Amino acid sequence: MHPLLRKEGFILDVDGVIGRGRKPIPPAVDAVKKLIEMGKIVVFVSNNSTRSRRIYLQRFKEYGLDVDESQMILATYVTAEYIKEKHGKSKIFTTGEDGLKEELVLAGHKVVDYDEAEVLVVGSNRGINFEIMTKALRMCLDKAKYYYATNPDKIFPSEDGPIPGTGMIVGSLYWMTGRLPDRVCGKPERVIMDLTLKKVGLSAEDVVVVGDQIDIDVKAGRVIGAKTLLVLSGVTTEQNLEEMVRKAGIKPDYILRDLSGLFNA
Ligand SMILES: [Mg+2]
Repeated sequence: MHPLLRKEGFILDVDGVIGRGRKPIPPAVDAVKKLIEMGKIVVFVSNNSTRSRRIYLQRFKEYGLDVDESQMILATYVTAEYIKEKHGKSKIFTTGEDGLKEELVLAGHKVVDYDEAEVLVVGSNRGINFEIMTKALRMCLDKAKYYYATNPDKIFPSEDGPIPGTGMIVGSLYWMTGRLPDRVCGKPERVIMDLTLKKVGLSAEDVVVVGDQIDIDVKAGRVIGAKTLLVLSGVTTEQNLEEMVRKAGIKPDYILRDLSGLFNA
């Protein structure tokens, strides 16, 4: 039996772990089903900044996994909850898409135009334009406004190649103003990981953090002091593993070709 199967909780990344874009990774999906059958606590933690949990459920259905919203911890949801905890229900201007707006509203915030807003929330937007950037820039220049980003991803690996991540907006705001977000909420930051532990009601030594990116997922596990498992079914592959470990400067505790390796050890 793989030693990680002694853990009670499995904190799983989504893209590159159980699917790639819309396509599932069938042996990994089967492994998730087995973990659930074994009575393990399984949650999915993703830096996705364009979708709400409700929208993301559809992707899980396409993967053939029947999970509910409480098992899904997305950067959109975490950002909304973090702002509520820190500042109460707020007036927010966001660069983000409808999925992010949906989570902000669900948390009790008001999504408003920039001149009324107290908080700027930067999330990815596939329809980003000059007007949205102008508004975000003006908020950024005002030191009295809080500035949060859903996630730090610079580039996102899509099905047909790399596409800009939230870093496209964070980066250009930084280039224009010299200002970085007051807090980034997604992995590898503590905000999303602390909320995840709280949600599952387990401590770091009882969980394993699983992902395909060393600088995002393995680092996120390290931040809370949990054991980490790197799978080579996404961004990190057998071919680039050595280089990725060198670049990130940290090593995962365990490495498997994909999640099903938990059961063929
Ligand atoms: Mg991933």
